[in-house]
Amino acid sequence: MKDICAVSTPLAEGGISVIRISGENSIEIAAKIFKTTSGKKIEEMPGYTCAYGNITDGERIIDDGVLTVFKAPRSYTGENVCEISCHGGIFVTKKVLRLCIKNGAELAEKGEFTKRAMLNGKMSLTQAEAVMDTISAQGEYALNSANLTREGRLFKKISEVNRELVKILGELAAWVDYPEEDLPGIEEENLRKSLENAASVTEKILADYDGGMILKNGIETCIAGKPNVGKSTLMNMLLGYERSIVTDVAGTTRDVIEEKARIGEFILKLSDTAGIHDTQDTVEKIGVEIAKKKLENAMLVMEVFDTSRPLDNEDTELLEYVKDLGKRTVIILNKSDLENKISREFFTGYSDNIVEISAKNDEGREDIQSAVENLFGFGNYDADSTIFANERQRSCAEKADKYLKMALESLDMGETLDAVTVMIDYAANALLELTGEKATEAVVDEVFSKFCVGK
Ligand code: GDP
Repeated sequence: MKDICAVSTPLAEGGISVIRISGENSIEIAAKIFKTTSGKKIEEMPGYTCAYGNITDGERIIDDGVLTVFKAPRSYTGENVCEISCHGGIFVTKKVLRLCIKNGAELAEKGEFTKRAMLNGKMSLTQAEAVMDTISAQGEYALNSANLTREGRLFKKISEVNRELVKILGELAAWVDYPEEDLPGIEEENLRKSLENAASVTEKILADYDGGMILKNGIETCIAGKPNVGKSTLMNMLLGYERSIVTDVAGTTRDVIEEKARIGEFILKLSDTAGIHDTQDTVEKIGVEIAKKKLENAMLVMEVFDTSRPLDNEDTELLEYVKDLGKRTVIILNKSDLENKISREFFTGYSDNIVEISAKNDEGREDIQSAVENLFGFGNYDADSTIFANERQRSCAEKADKYLKMALESLDMGETLDAVTVMIDYAANALLELTGEKATEAVVDEVFSKFCVGK
């Protein structure tokens, strides 16, 4: 296999850059361009050691830096790997990279280091995907989940289920071949139990995925309330900068504005809407329709009220409308800096989470955070549960789950074991595709195409 090289740090000015070379001849290539100050021969350096020296193009010194050597199979890729740390200038980094290419390495493709790690048995496909998740993790939970997957938890969990299914398939195959013989392996009750057990694992995995998506992609959050209660101001407070146009004229937020705000461990995908008041204005009417749709699709609704004015029909309409939708809600009593005209008790039947804030004065953020954590389970997440990395894995798990349930149904309906066998076979295949043990080349390529070069 060819030797590959790439810049593994971001190509931007920084303290250092790391250029990685992997392949059978990577040590020889490094030896051509790196001269240790001590005079030590690079070919003689043991794995996991480093040396200081100059990076040279022939006689010319390009930079000084540190070379780290990893010997196969004890490296990230499982091959010989050399990492050159040079100064983190863009020009000098590119120059070192070109030097590697000039001396026999080829520029790595996206994710090629990790792909080689997988092909060399260093990790499963799900673990490789978790590497990407670790890189993109933006919070403690997401990182924890990626780390667990990288440790191989997901792989192990699914492999256990698969082993069980393959065992069943073996027994069933024997039955199909010799149906007239009494095979003790196929007690129908046992078969059902095994299938139910497998299905409970796929179900749990699918449920975890939904939780994982909240952490990864954020909570669709709709900020609702009649004009002028302070929705835009609240949004700006959550975002930490001016995004919506705040004015004193009712109904200014005509279009739906969407932004992502980080609140504690969670990312809120906020949309600020025009409210759901009756209006004759055609433009606003469209806004109200969009707002209603947003409310329907939201995972979380923040209902905003202006406590400096008595409640009116429009406020109660919103409360009732959202209550009927059965959403998770936070009731936000805004403008707490002004004299209060509304009793807090009025809202108790509508939400368990009522917070008083002054959006204008940036007060109440922590209370909103506690309410969100309360609703979306800060602490409710099983820290040990393996959260899915991506849609590919979810759809494999879903397929497996579907076929397991169909197998159970076939059993219930007294169909022949042939039919059951087919379903179990499909389920097992879907799980093998999930872990990558039976993934097609196209699937593998697709996974690695999402990586960056150098990883
Ligand atoms: P929206 O129409 O619901 O988006 O309301 P805006 O965010 O545009 O706010 C309407 C008006 O209320 C603006 O003049 C804001 O400055 C004012 N406002 C918003 N929040 C507060 C608050 O906490 N206290 C006070 N006193 N005024 C606020």
